[in-house]
Amino acid sequence: MLLTEKPSDWIFELETPELGEDTGSTSRTWQKTVDSSLSYNSQEFSFRGPLQVYAEAQWADGGLSVEISVEMTLSSSCSRCLGQADIDIMNDFMYLYTLRKKGGPPEDSGEEEIVFVPVDSWRKTINISDQVWETVIMSLPLRVICSPDCKGICPLCGKSLREGECGCPQNGTDPRLEKLRDMKIADTEE
Ligand SMILES: [Zn+2]
Ligand SMILES: [Zn+2]
Repeated sequence: MLLTEKPSDWIFELETPELGEDTGSTSRTWQKTVDSSLSYNSQEFSFRGPLQVYAEAQWADGGLSVEISVEMTLSSSCSRCLGQADIDIMNDFMYLYTLRKKGGPPEDSGEEEIVFVPVDSWRKTINISDQVWETVIMSLPLRVICSPDCKGICPLCGKSLREGECGCPQNGTDPRLEKLRDMKIADTEE
């Protein structure tokens, strides 16, 4: 199964610190096994281990400031050689949960993403499930490569050069490639 939106069993709820406590903070960690692959930007990612989530909340700037960190190892296919590529991801985002209504006076949010929470759903805990999903999705690489110096596949025989040289003549005996190279040079000389 491919996940293209937040699965219904992704429920992350965080206790909020006591109101009026400027210095108090609450935090929680989760470890979640994800059996399905994520599909994003026409690229498929499968989990090589559990998704680890850490969240920490404290009152600030008239709202609840929550830092969400995710850590995961994903597997996908290299866009150059099509071989398997493992990707270690650690990322965090700041969110400000506020009761203020949309359309209020504009405010400078700085680095934080502002989430408007309906007054009647504000309790002793806050549901951060949507923001955890968003953090995971926004942490995915737009382009996957197995290693920075991946040589891709041989344009002549199609063999992945990760497994070694294929033996094809390398110095542009293919006239189509020669043409391409000439065009590139002309481009950069502009
Ligand atoms: Zn590769
Ligand atoms: Zn070849």
